[in-house]
Amino acid sequence: MTENASKLKAKNNIAYLVVAAGRGSRAGAGLPKQYRSLGSRPVLSHTLSALHASAPGALIQVVIHPDDQLLYEDCLISLEPQARLSVQSPVFGGATRQESVRLGLEALATQSAPEIVLIHDAARPFVDRAIVERAVIAAQSYGAAAPGVALTDTVKQVNDQLMVVATPERQFLRAVQTPQAFQFSVILEAHRKAADSHGDYTDDAMIAEFAGHSVHLFLGDIKNFKLTTPEDFDRAMETINRQLYADLPDIRTGQGYDVHAFEPGDRVWLGGVEIPHAFKLAGHSDADVLMHAITDAILGAIAEGDIGAHFPPTDPRWKGAESKIFLAHACQRVRERGGMIAHLDATIICEAPKIGPHRDRIRHSLAALMALEVDRVAIKATTTEGLGFTGRKEGIAALAIATIRLPSQ
Ligand code: MG
Repeated sequence: MTENASKLKAKNNIAYLVVAAGRGSRAGAGLPKQYRSLGSRPVLSHTLSALHASAPGALIQVVIHPDDQLLYEDCLISLEPQARLSVQSPVFGGATRQESVRLGLEALATQSAPEIVLIHDAARPFVDRAIVERAVIAAQSYGAAAPGVALTDTVKQVNDQLMVVATPERQFLRAVQTPQAFQFSVILEAHRKAADSHGDYTDDAMIAEFAGHSVHLFLGDIKNFKLTTPEDFDRAMETINRQLYADLPDIRTGQGYDVHAFEPGDRVWLGGVEIPHAFKLAGHSDADVLMHAITDAILGAIAEGDIGAHFPPTDPRWKGAESKIFLAHACQRVRERGGMIAHLDATIICEAPKIGPHRDRIRHSLAALMALEVDRVAIKATTTEGLGFTGRKEGIAALAIATIRLPSQ
């Protein structure tokens, strides 16, 4: 453990305030950027997870927009259980970022009034332990601090005709990031004063300056960038994939196969999608033959038996259980091993119903159930040219192959 880390451990009276109330959708895709997905989960979920991992004892207070409550709850679902326990009930933000931060600070004041608060942007998911350690120590030493990075480009000040009026010396310039770190009482009081002054301040460091405090800049990290444009999202995705693939070098594949017979009815369930048909599939509950084959493929890839071993049909608990419970269980086993599902490929074999018109709905349904990107789920269909039991329209068969990545053992 580094000296910094042991100081952090001794000092658990730290809270994070995460500002996620913005409406920014410059990055495209309609949703506020903190709720846009980055790989298998939303940006905010990555950020909360990184903050928790950097100081596991710290409380996390998130400020959200009142319209985003459902999006926020989805974020929490995709968070590791330990991290979720650190997250307090959300606070609704105000009309500006400044007001949102103040409302978050007031909420912390009524709960536990931490000694140190780290105020962080929801759209900076690459915050890490080293920055958090530097932030806490700087706040303890100086009362008010922010991470800064040296500029590589020369900066020019221009007038409204775009004529250069000054070239500030680059060695004295820093680009400022978050988490900005403060003694809690210092920044709470400064925000209250700033609210009374009706001034407009661009960040929390500036609010501390306004209230008469000197702000120390500690070393930031260019990897701790803020997601704003579509290019930032591409760069973030590359970073996440690089980390993920380096951490999960053990590649496994598993296959699954299942058959269900038709019986009188008017719809079938395939991959969680209801498809009108002249028959239904016989079996427990939804008899989702595709989901059963996929569940077995995943269990096969981690060599953990088959669907019947985990959910014996003789056990009354599983009588009539929905197939998505089986699939969720197999995905959970992969997560518990620290792994990820890299790809799924399945083939549905039947003369009818026609699968093509429903293919994309099935892919989206399965991807959502497994928290995967849609381009990692392939669904194909074939007939058997009238041959065999599928050719005689007696039922549907499904084949699946799962590719899984696990940590090295
Ligand atoms: Mg089955």
